Amino acid sequence: MSSQHSSSPSHGATSHTGFMKALKCRECGREYPLTATHVCEFDFGPLEVAYDYDRIKRTLSREVICQRPQNMWRYRELLPVAGEPTVGRQVGYTPLVKADRLARRLGIRELYVKNDAVNYPTLSFKDRVVSVALSRSVELGFKTVACASTGNLANSVAANAASAGLECFVFIPHDLEQGKVINSLVYGANVIGIKGHYDEVNRLCAEIAGKYGWAFVNVNMRPYYAEGSKSMGFEIQEQLGWTIPEHTVVCMASGSLLTKIHKSYQEFSKLGLVEPTKWKIHGAQATGCSPITTAQKAGLDFFKPVKPNTIAKSLAIGTPADGFYALKVMKETGGYGDDVTDDEIREGIQLLAECEGIFAETAGGVTVGVAKKLIASGKIPKDSSAVLCITGNGLKTIEAMAGHVGETHDIRPNLREFEALLNQDKTQLLQA
Ligand SMILES: *Cc1c(COP(=O)(O)O)cnc(C)c1O
Repeated sequence: MSSQHSSSPSHGATSHTGFMKALKCRECGREYPLTATHVCEFDFGPLEVAYDYDRIKRTLSREVICQRPQNMWRYRELLPVAGEPTVGRQVGYTPLVKADRLARRLGIRELYVKNDAVNYPTLSFKDRVVSVALSRSVELGFKTVACASTGNLANSVAANAASAGLECFVFIPHDLEQGKVINSLVYGANVIGIKGHYDEVNRLCAEIAGKYGWAFVNVNMRPYYAEGSKSMGFEIQEQLGWTIPEHTVVCMASGSLLTKIHKSYQEFSKLGLVEPTKWKIHGAQATGCSPITTAQKAGLDFFKPVKPNTIAKSLAIGTPADGFYALKVMKETGGYGDDVTDDEIREGIQLLAECEGIFAETAGGVTVGVAKKLIASGKIPKDSSAVLCITGNGLKTIEAMAGHVGETHDIRPNLREFEALLNQDKTQLLQA
């Protein structure tokens, strides 16, 4: 492993900061320069990027956006980079699929699937946050990037760092799915498997980030990183013909994506890019790690940390950094939270695959499973329209489905055996 320990770059904000104004504490509103920092020194509140919306309004219109290439950077004025993005310029603009067959199965009038299972380059929504975090890291002069990850973030940081020529350290729980581990190692990243849960990985990374001068995308770079998630919401609105969906179902790990989809609807409303209509955002978790939805169901404003035990490893964060704010968004929009068991997660994966031909990872099974429950209970009315956010690809969590999807019919290579099989198992085959 080679790296420049403690060789902190300047960390100074460039004089030119694009459409960003400052980093601002979400609690007390104190402002900070646009450096690699993430907590308020006074009340330890999280910092968020503040923009100059008046200037953005004068620059950004539907026409301007439509003329730009189909990737997440077509909304660049609302993303936290000062100049041209340098990392992940092809990320985003994934399909919004009108899911009629799944709609019929779930009993809802209209349903869409936002399919980040085919995001570029590492097949999850994390490519959005990473392209922003690494582009900003390059602007701030960093040569080494790092992250604490439940798997997909590690894949994306490793891949995007490789293509940008950055040194890379990724920290993951040691017992992740093989697909996630190999998908980090292949890019030549330094992969550190921590013998513990994600929350312990995260705690260690906070220490390392303080000591080494690295850009930790979800620690000291978190204010920039998190903003990348808004692009999923921007795309949904544009792809729905510049409207806000009535209902959006989002799976939650830290809860950040859910809060940023909400922010994307607020920003497009504020800028006049969409009609400001009412929307509800619903949160989905796995029962084996459901601190946020458990609090939502109990009507609480705060969550109790848990020890995760679920096949949805990408969502297994027991102490979710944005859990408090995710609860606030659900409350403010009138959304609900719910959670599903491992069997229901697998059923959700299978439903989406059989109805729409989309193979999602376990997190997608959580989203579909929870949507099913919310529709069945009437919390999402049957005569309404909803968008499901599918955030990762099933090929990375094969273990979860192995042994649960039936078996191949193996025969010798001759017509007689095939026809024997057809006649023998006709009913079985046709049902499969
Ligand atoms: C990270 C991740 C999420 C959740 O992200 P948060 O913003 O931390 O809530 C959802 N789905 C997948 C597949 C992920 O990798």
